[in-house]
Amino acid sequence: MHELSLAMQIQQTVLKAALEHEVQAVVEVDIDIGKLSLFNPDQVEFWLHQLFLDTVAEHAEISVAAISPTVKCADCGYEGAGEVPTDSGFHIFMPALRCPRCESSNIAVEGGRDVVIKNLRVAKAAPGGGAHA
Ligand SMILES: [Zn+2]
Repeated sequence: MHELSLAMQIQQTVLKAALEHEVQAVVEVDIDIGKLSLFNPDQVEFWLHQLFLDTVAEHAEISVAAISPTVKCADCGYEGAGEVPTDSGFHIFMPALRCPRCESSNIAVEGGRDVVIKNLRVAKAAPGGGAHA
């Protein structure tokens, strides 16, 4: 149930921001989840939909992206996205990352561990109530 507690944190952050800026509705929430954080993006999205019920974010479009870590290989110099293995042990043990080019495990890993609310799009009430119609 790690995903639920993460979703609750995201929900609180989003609703707090919405309150501070007096928005009418949260339209869109984009979230980046690092693959090494071991959170399941589908689960997080599912819980967010539940938690946003009866709030200003009820109809928000939620998109959760899984972000690959960047690896730097000390053996062959490769620098780029590292693929996270998705075998059954993945959720139990930290994945053993390898260089995608030479399969060395002598690598430095950057990113891929963080959860970031990347974008928040909101609808504001029209100031002064001046309608254009
Ligand atoms: Zn390499």
